[in-house]
Amino acid sequence: MTGLMKNKRILVTGAGGFIGHHLVKRLRAEGYWVRGADLKCPEYAPSDANEFEILDLRHFEDCLLAVRGGIEQVYNLAADMGGIGFITAKHAEIARNNILINAHMLEASRVQGVNRLLFSSSACVYAQSKQKDTEVTPLREEDAYPADPEPGYGWEKLYAEELYHYYWQDYCFETRIVRFHNVYGPLGTYEGGREKAPAAICRKVALARDHGTIDIWGDGEQTRSFVYVDDCVEGLVRLMASEYRKPLNLGTDRLISINGLVDLVCSIAGKQLTKKHDLSQPQGVRGRNSDNRRLREVLGWEPSISLEHGLELTYAWIERELEKAGRVQKHLASRI
Ligand code: NAD
Repeated sequence: MTGLMKNKRILVTGAGGFIGHHLVKRLRAEGYWVRGADLKCPEYAPSDANEFEILDLRHFEDCLLAVRGGIEQVYNLAADMGGIGFITAKHAEIARNNILINAHMLEASRVQGVNRLLFSSSACVYAQSKQKDTEVTPLREEDAYPADPEPGYGWEKLYAEELYHYYWQDYCFETRIVRFHNVYGPLGTYEGGREKAPAAICRKVALARDHGTIDIWGDGEQTRSFVYVDDCVEGLVRLMASEYRKPLNLGTDRLISINGLVDLVCSIAGKQLTKKHDLSQPQGVRGRNSDNRRLREVLGWEPSISLEHGLELTYAWIERELEKAGRVQKHLASRI
């Protein structure tokens, strides 16, 4: 590690959240000086950040505070978000909050002389018309246009991508744009309404009795691809270091149905469960997968942690959390 690296100052917004927490840990392990900013501290483990500040980044003054003091790079991960239930129910709130965070963080970073800012976009920007089939064609970056994204959250992310690009065009302000495809792993929200499918399924399987039933949203035939959080963090660091300014997918291209995901988690847990499908619940687009051609070209790399391994680690962590709370008896961690 060079002395120069040790002195480099990085801001991670959303550092109290899932991906931000893991990213801070990684950057600190590499020797960077890191400030974390969020509305809240991380829920499950203390942050490794050198400084952690509670700030509301919907306010421009708080964004200026977050980037003060010679911050060179910003990973802007703060967002009001959650799984499909949450983002389907809260269009106005999510869109307003995220518009404010993204516009203010961008301008504050520019006026404070930040060198480079990475924006965390989402696969929810892709046109819904191209995701109507479970055997979906993997989505290339161009497939976000003509625009037809997820209402609310997806529209906001897509417009923010444009805004970040305008800052490059008009001010030569260096921006990077990543489109995550379903990131999962330990230390992520697993209940309360904001959790996403892998964490929700791990929780439900852990809480179910062997030979019992499990509720699944939709018919379970909807398909997705999933990326483990360590791969996600690796991709983020690589993209920040690259010279690529256009939106880039970050995910795996292994398509699996939600029913398939449940079967995997059940086999990890050693349980046999009957699926009860609840067709009244939202299930999002019918199929979504990442085309990783550009990712490989640009970063010379792509995620490699298998879904089996990643889910094993995630399940063990969630089961242990539930065990700590006295809600399940024995945990998988003792078995792997
Ligand atoms: P997360 O909800 O765990 O983390 C987001 C954090 O942002 C939270 O800790 C939240 O408190 C914080 N935040 C919200 N409003 C804020 C505000 N006004 N001021 C300061 N902080 C605020 O989510 P995550 O999974 O870690 O996602 C990180 C980023 O990646 C988000 O931008 C999200 O939209 C994007 N993303 C994530 C996924 C995924 O699968 N996890 C997929 C696509 C995109």
